[in-house]
Amino acid sequence: MMNSVAILGSTGSIGTQAIEVCQMHGLRVTALAANTSVDTLVKQAKELKPEILCIADESRYPALKEAAAGLGCRLLAGMDGLCEIARDSASDILLNSVVGMVGLLPTLTAIDAKKPLALANKETLVAGGALVMDAAAKNGVPIYPVDSEHSAIFQCLQGNKRSQLKKIILTASGGPFYGKTKADLQNTTVEQALKHPNWSMGNKITIDSATLMNKGLEFIEARWLFDLTPDQIEIVVHRQSVLHSAVVYQDDSMIGQMGVPDMKIPIQYALLYPDRLPCPTKPLSLTDYGTLTFAKPDYDTFDCLTACIKASEMGGSAPAIANGANEAAVAAFLARKISFLRIGELVTAAIREIPSAPLSCYEDVTAADKAARAFVANAIA
Ligand code: MG
Repeated sequence: MMNSVAILGSTGSIGTQAIEVCQMHGLRVTALAANTSVDTLVKQAKELKPEILCIADESRYPALKEAAAGLGCRLLAGMDGLCEIARDSASDILLNSVVGMVGLLPTLTAIDAKKPLALANKETLVAGGALVMDAAAKNGVPIYPVDSEHSAIFQCLQGNKRSQLKKIILTASGGPFYGKTKADLQNTTVEQALKHPNWSMGNKITIDSATLMNKGLEFIEARWLFDLTPDQIEIVVHRQSVLHSAVVYQDDSMIGQMGVPDMKIPIQYALLYPDRLPCPTKPLSLTDYGTLTFAKPDYDTFDCLTACIKASEMGGSAPAIANGANEAAVAAFLARKISFLRIGELVTAAIREIPSAPLSCYEDVTAADKAARAFVANAIA
């Protein structure tokens, strides 16, 4: 069992819930890193007394220095700081819950230092899946998925023969716009897109859930984590988010993992694996739900989902291009520069227009990411 945890993205939705889990089980928190939120970071540090504090946005470093004076923490900033935490030997496990491609280098750094990973940063696997999984296998580093669907699949694989796995069922809530057509979504506002029916999450992932890009990213993430071919992944819309995903074995037995939609369950499983201890969450009452529903996704309305599956089939840098285009498009949508439907159009166009190339190193991934962001910037200029 792990005794000490370093958390990248500690002030975000996953980070704050992970801290709750650590406090409940007496796990020592050795390092905390946030993107820009100095005040919350310092508040967390006063309570948890970590050895290291890091602010990813270097322009906020003077503010951190001032606010954290007298705490006795080592203060770091930027990508160098994130990577120093990733390789710091004081922690038994690194929880990487930063948002976006920025999480890739800390992930690779942790693997290089042979540090186990609880991975909530899905863009890491989408953009650099081959590099990450190769490095993890070479260094014998376990990766415990924190994404609820991937945690569910990981849980369903325990105690069974991986070679006898037939396929996986990746469940999707369908997001706030389930049942809508493109015509209905023409004038979608930022506020409407930020309202998720089941999960409370950060802005980027909430928009990704509304476009179903999130499910597309998870499709690619699952391929890498569980070494699957695209045709071994079936996406099923399940509005209640109670069945978090399932696996099907050769005997056509389907095993699923269920629970209330609360990220503390997968976070805790990743940090305490293989233990299953009481969790600070509500128990699941099946009779309170009464009915669980399942349906096929609408690939015509949700271009992002279709584009991600296409990118996954194309391989090479195509997933990194899809991810980079989406990160740029979502930022533009949140800044009210483009419409909601334009996000899907831009992701689709990026993988169509930018040639896919093989990925053999970190620089290949960042080049693909940069090309995609430039493509989007140019398209909306
Ligand atoms: Mg998920």
